[in-house]
Amino acid sequence: MAAKIKAPPMVFIKGEEMTSYCMDLIMDKWIHPHLDVGAWEFYDLSCRSRDDTEDKVLHDAVAAGARIGAIFKEPTVTPTAEQQKKLGLKKAWGSPNGAMRRGWNGVTISRDTIHIEGMQLGYKRPVLFERHAVGGEYGAGFKSVGSGKVVTTFYPSDGSEPQVVDERTLADSNNAVVTYHNPLDNVPDLAHHFFKRCLAAGVTPYVVTKKTVFKWQEGFWLAMKEVFDKDYKQQFVDAGLLSRCGGNLPHLISDAATMQIIRWTDGGFGMAAHNYDGDMLTDEVAQVHRSPGFITSNLIGKRADGTTIMEFEASHGTVADMWEAHLRGEETSLNPLGMVEALIGAMNHAATLSGDEATIHAWTERLRTFMHRSMVSGRGTRDLCGPSGLTTEQFIDEIAAQLNG
Ligand code: NAD
Repeated sequence: MAAKIKAPPMVFIKGEEMTSYCMDLIMDKWIHPHLDVGAWEFYDLSCRSRDDTEDKVLHDAVAAGARIGAIFKEPTVTPTAEQQKKLGLKKAWGSPNGAMRRGWNGVTISRDTIHIEGMQLGYKRPVLFERHAVGGEYGAGFKSVGSGKVVTTFYPSDGSEPQVVDERTLADSNNAVVTYHNPLDNVPDLAHHFFKRCLAAGVTPYVVTKKTVFKWQEGFWLAMKEVFDKDYKQQFVDAGLLSRCGGNLPHLISDAATMQIIRWTDGGFGMAAHNYDGDMLTDEVAQVHRSPGFITSNLIGKRADGTTIMEFEASHGTVADMWEAHLRGEETSLNPLGMVEALIGAMNHAATLSGDEATIHAWTERLRTFMHRSMVSGRGTRDLCGPSGLTTEQFIDEIAAQLNG
């Protein structure tokens, strides 16, 4: 057998249930026989491991990710109160996402359609999405209050005169008062990432906001447009990607975007949006493109020295229903494409950071080709190939045989 390829350093975050079972098989049958992964660092973010380490494992994983810059993450369980009880956990550990976005200075979550050559899923051509990774409703503070007056005041950190942001009288006896903000310093980084990707994929970029009504969203649009006009406009014009937009960066109102996502099934567009809009709209893209199994989910952050930190994961969860079926001894058919796309993305980024892309990129491209060919020829999982498709284990063996061939 040929010598193993040395895989460059990367962080591998383990989760649990069906997706973790499947990744263990993939590691055993696809990765270990061909790659030396001695430089990978593994962190177990299962509920049990987080509980046993009082969540130190999460902080270690985040620190390792910041140090190494390339991260693959399996889906993890964010325990409900019921799961806390069932698993005997000290507490219902929260979603690890917040710690990761903070620790890696998350700028954007890129979510793109995955395409299989020779098979149409939803969109004919790529759809690219940037969801701002910070701010908005997710970071909101709130209180339920009675009738009275609310004053929101800004105290500048330079000690200058405070400013009243908003003042209002509440007449109802029951009100939800909410405060949030949109940090905009990293929007230029998001813009560069988005426009570069749209150019490389040959798609038209749209900025999506509701700025006509939500006037505070103007800042996001202006930051995007400034980067576009200065560095990208001419390149998009030359590539013929703005012919329907009068040569300018198009803006789309978010409610119109919800309709276009369903109508524009030819694909060939990109969208960049605020955090919550991005969350909603990418779920819609996933549905049009068959399922969340065919959408990527990549968190893009930045180290203090300017290095890009990239974390890659599937956009689906741990597929708990299939895990229950597996535990009952029933056949399952998990489509690993989204997870393997994430693994490929992390390995490729690790290779880029190491300065030697060619060998790893060739290996991952071969793996992708084998998966696609098998799916197109009917030897894929049952979500794509129907009842005659392969089980979880059979599909892994099928690709393992091709990798060994
Ligand atoms: P899920 O995405 O795991 O499954 C939803 C449905 O889609 C299920 O019917 C499942 O069988 C099907 N499905 C999903 N991916 C599939 C695939 N690759 N192949 C075939 N079928 C597939 O979501 P859920 O059931 O709501 O959540 C299960 C667990 O996942 C929960 O504990 C939740 O906390 C966790 N979760 C984790 C993440 C993450 O780590 N990023 C995201 C979402 C949910």
